[in-house]
Amino acid sequence: MMHVENISPNECTGCGGCVAVCHRDAVTMGTDEYGNYRPRIDETKCVNCQKCTRFCAKIHAASKAAPLQAYGAVGKDGDLVHKSASGGVFATVATALIAQKGQVYGAVSQCFEGKLQVYHTCASDAREMEKMQGSKYVQSRAWEVYRAVSQRLQKGETVLFTGTPCQVAAVKAYTGDPQNLVTMDLVCHGVPATQMLNEALTLFAKRLGGKLTDFSFRDKSREKHYTSRLTLRKGRRTKTYFVRARYLSFYHAFLQSDNFRESCYSCSYAGMERVSDITVGDYWGMEKHHSHQMQDRTDWSCVLVNTQKGKAFLEQYGKDLTLVESKPQWVAEENKQLRAPGEKGPHRARLLELYKKGGYKAVEKDFIKENGGALRYRLRLYKSFK
Ligand SMILES: Cc1cc2nc3c(=O)[nH]c(=O)nc-3n(C[C@H](O)[C@H](O)[C@H](O)COP(=O)(O)OP(=O)(O)OC[C@H]3O[C@@H](n4cnc5c(N)ncnc54)[C@H](O)[C@@H]3O)c2cc1C
Repeated sequence: MMHVENISPNECTGCGGCVAVCHRDAVTMGTDEYGNYRPRIDETKCVNCQKCTRFCAKIHAASKAAPLQAYGAVGKDGDLVHKSASGGVFATVATALIAQKGQVYGAVSQCFEGKLQVYHTCASDAREMEKMQGSKYVQSRAWEVYRAVSQRLQKGETVLFTGTPCQVAAVKAYTGDPQNLVTMDLVCHGVPATQMLNEALTLFAKRLGGKLTDFSFRDKSREKHYTSRLTLRKGRRTKTYFVRARYLSFYHAFLQSDNFRESCYSCSYAGMERVSDITVGDYWGMEKHHSHQMQDRTDWSCVLVNTQKGKAFLEQYGKDLTLVESKPQWVAEENKQLRAPGEKGPHRARLLELYKKGGYKAVEKDFIKENGGALRYRLRLYKSFK
């Protein structure tokens, strides 16, 4: 009998729809040898109804649509934009929806005993929504909210669900995609495992002589792009470091497409046809067609409006966005994920092999060697803090 746990790593996205759909709690989420989420069957509870397998097939068959409109976008509220990864599109529309008593689902990260946890939750006020802002470049535990989303929709509440395209496909399949659900997916080039991130951050924090208390992948206060912020507890003191992606082995591997889960490299949602009502991403290369409209900002988002529902939503809740009309093909010019799934990075095979043999310590050791050895790496790292 075919079970979800036997679905090939090329196909299982870790969206967790199978976990949510099993009302006998026979499907739980475990991890594979690299820490990626993979469903597990509890044989003592499973009655072989095949609901999980059929549901997985339904997610993979999710309908997709070519964008109706494309924009460059940035929020009018500078504070909201500052806390966002790019143009603050998510935060701007979420704020407007919450003001009208709508519910917003998205990914948050929290540090607990030196380890980061990334999971989906609900925001019904500005403080909760703020925690969703910013990109967390690992896979979020989204399946824990699918049932709650469905219950809210059945009560007639308006829900905005945001996440990676595979998570959007799962929530649409789980809820039946009623009119009061609006989905916003990210242009996503792949998700690594939180387990690997935590191992990397623990080693890095140790190198700096502290314990992690907070981490953000993109902080705009020092340098515009891909500067992470680490907060460490050192004895009784707390110290914050701003670290560029190239000095963090995990982040560097993420940007090189070396450490995603296997399915991301053949993602069926990466392309111009989108699974959501609205797609948001970074608008790389916007200056090529819109330099005169960019108002000296470099952190514009791209927005693809894919359905009539998405169009009506943006008209109603996007009034605090500055929108510059663009074209889907212009947006895709420098964003490969809008054309096809990303290719495996140059060091992926080596990274996985090292991890399997020696854990993240072996990966880190190799990264430092590539950076000229321990002394040179340390010097470069410390110089970059100044
Ligand atoms: C794993 C990942 C890969 C990405 N790859 C690309 C790319 O290749 N090209 C590109 O143009 N853009 C990519 N993005 C999107 C980009 O980083 C910004 O999120 C996007 O530009 C929207 O920015 P914003 O300012 O509107 O909102 P932000 O404030 O950045 O957006 C926050 C929204 O993102 C959601 N979110 C954050 N982290 C996660 C996560 N781990 N899982 C699910 N949802 C999450 C939150 O729920 C929230 O709704 C990626 C994002 C992620 C999380």
